[in-house]
Amino acid sequence: MTGSSNGRWELGVGDWELRTLTSSEIKARARALGFDLCGIAPAGSFPELSFLREWLDRGHAGEMGYLQRTADKRADVRHVLPGARSVIVTGTIYNIARPYSTEQADPDAALISRYAWGDDYHDVLKARLDALVAWMRDASPEPFEARAYVDTGPVQERVYAQYAGLGWIGKNTCLINPSVGSWLFLAEIICTLRLDPDPPALDQCGTCTLCLDACPTGAIVEPQVLDATRCLSYLTIELRGPIPEAHRPALGAHVYGCDICQEVCPYNQQPPRSNDVAWQPRRALDLPALIALWQTPDDELRATLKGSAMTRATLTGLRRNVAVAIGNSGNPDAIASLAVASEDRPSADDPIVEEHIRWAVTNHANHEPANRANPANRANPVMIRP
Ligand code: SF4
Ligand code: SF4
Repeated sequence: MTGSSNGRWELGVGDWELRTLTSSEIKARARALGFDLCGIAPAGSFPELSFLREWLDRGHAGEMGYLQRTADKRADVRHVLPGARSVIVTGTIYNIARPYSTEQADPDAALISRYAWGDDYHDVLKARLDALVAWMRDASPEPFEARAYVDTGPVQERVYAQYAGLGWIGKNTCLINPSVGSWLFLAEIICTLRLDPDPPALDQCGTCTLCLDACPTGAIVEPQVLDATRCLSYLTIELRGPIPEAHRPALGAHVYGCDICQEVCPYNQQPPRSNDVAWQPRRALDLPALIALWQTPDDELRATLKGSAMTRATLTGLRRNVAVAIGNSGNPDAIASLAVASEDRPSADDPIVEEHIRWAVTNHANHEPANRANPANRANPVMIRP
């Protein structure tokens, strides 16, 4: 503080700096709002950011044209928010007390990615990010610009998460925190505030290759490089057309996403669990039977998926996936149910779904599905190496 000629104490330049919102205040508030991890990265131009262009040029993005269209913005957060100085990155644990897909022995159960069982994380976390930004605006003595994103923004969030010290990008391309593993939702605030950054996290994969070895389609073509066009998450969620026949057996019972390369990771063997009600599974998505999922009327399925992250797959996309999974299950009753028409399930009449039904019936007639012959392999029935 400095004195003044009229006897009142006034703020000096140094005092103004002292009153600037600090990184630790922001992290404390983030924790209070329900985020498990929070770190600060500088809004810099990191070497890892430039690989996106090469990855796109290699064709690994498949039909995800939005990545091409936003590649320039994704190269640097300062293209998203001019004048950005800091990226506040949060991590939220979504793991709950349920066995891994690789531990499931029931060949007739549908496998759904762990992150999609509960409420849509985009909505839940965006509300929390908005609350954090609102608090920052109240608490900061200086005005600032900010953009908050949950997964959908043109931001390479895992790179910033690594530089914010939250974890490293593993060979399976997921962000791994050495203490809590990789069952994490990432969300970030890009802002013009100059905040003290955290030290970047160090790679701790070492010589491990468990994720590369376990991937059923060989989608991890080299450490930290995913060919999305082979990944079950892409094939079951992003791909709108037919699933290439060569990859259908590898789907096993996966109807939405895939967690195998995270489940085998040593850092996820004793992961913490979240008690957050938002991530608890909806009853209809809690290891549903494939046949029950197939027989669910469209209206009911739509109501179940409403407010979950699974709406991204679309109803016909989900039917397509369930048809393939039933074909892989080898369950005669489930296969027979595919051929039963129902006015309640118009999405099953989609030509792409019908083609996958035909494949499922033929597949059943011609082969004994590997996951029924050896239930222990059901989540990873066929290895297709590059
Ligand atoms: Fe994709 Fe599953 Fe392979 Fe991981 S294990 S890269 S999620 S197909
Ligand atoms: Fe890294 Fe091994 Fe985990 Fe793969 S399974 S991400 S190589 S630690």
